[in-house]
Amino acid sequence: MDSSLLATLVAVVVIVIAIGVGLVVIMQRRRPDLDVGTVPTRRPVSALGAAVRRALGSGLDDAAWESLEDALLAADLGVAASRDIVTAVRASKPEDLDSARRALADTLKAELAGKDRSLKLDGSPAVILVVGVNGTGKTTTIAKLAHKLQGDGMTVTLAAADTFRAGAAQQLRTWGDRVGARVVHGEEGGDPAAVAYDGVDSARARGADVVIIDTAGRLHGKKNLMAELEKVHRVAGGETVGEVLLVLDATGGQNGLAQVEEFSETVPISGIVLTKLDGTARGGIVIAVERALGVPVKFVGVGEGLDDLVHFDPDTFVNSLLE
Ligand code: GDP
Repeated sequence: MDSSLLATLVAVVVIVIAIGVGLVVIMQRRRPDLDVGTVPTRRPVSALGAAVRRALGSGLDDAAWESLEDALLAADLGVAASRDIVTAVRASKPEDLDSARRALADTLKAELAGKDRSLKLDGSPAVILVVGVNGTGKTTTIAKLAHKLQGDGMTVTLAAADTFRAGAAQQLRTWGDRVGARVVHGEEGGDPAAVAYDGVDSARARGADVVIIDTAGRLHGKKNLMAELEKVHRVAGGETVGEVLLVLDATGGQNGLAQVEEFSETVPISGIVLTKLDGTARGGIVIAVERALGVPVKFVGVGEGLDDLVHFDPDTFVNSLLE
């Protein structure tokens, strides 16, 4: 081959590789960073920052503090938390908007501090029971969590113990296929506790690291549902169940709190997953929920994709809330 042809060929190959590398770099930059602690970057989580500036922007008199309380209420923090937080910020005697905003950030962070937000993965397999009302994002959350754990090198089995809702098991199987997790299921209308038992049993037999159990979340027939959940929890291991995660839709605001209380009367909720935080400008529900239940928010859902589940990090969250 003549040397000028060879040089041209080499140049073409180098240019093609350079374009490829450039494209990969650009694609990676475009991908939103949704790793641990980075709470919603796609859409503003809150209109609170602007409301705080409006409330306190023209002086720190009584009317300003009242407006701040209204802004916190509008962000879904709930009555008691809004009042307490304003009291704490006032007590720090801020002299201007900046110091008031800093005091507010510190107070919100202190409110969320000191909770263990780690996912308990003890046991072989570790058992995670997922409960919540239909439509809150339970199934999607299970898929996202399985995806996350498998990405960390664990093998995950899913148990479709929502035998009540038509198509629930199929929905979980579809997600299972997508994330590469085995799905244990039973007959539609069958005994959910039996599916939970089989899920744990077969995960153990196959040496899976984690079993995540989906449960029914119908609102009607509440009494039966709660009795059923209690049984599923018992059969899945009772006290040895590492995590009982309650999935709550952030866009439901304070209404969700009543549901939360009902579930927590039946099973020992160990953590909250707050979904659809990308779809609300009222992130303060995190604080209201933690106050109501005394249970930590462990994850937040920030979209419909498999990577859209992030560990909840209070500092990042408060900063984005007040942006
Ligand atoms: P389930 O009935 O509780 O199992 O709820 P699904 O998992 O079927 O979710 C209900 C709807 O909420 C689906 O359209 C999901 O894509 C959507 N969804 C779930 N989590 C999120 C989230 O974090 N953000 C957004 N925007 N949508 C979500």
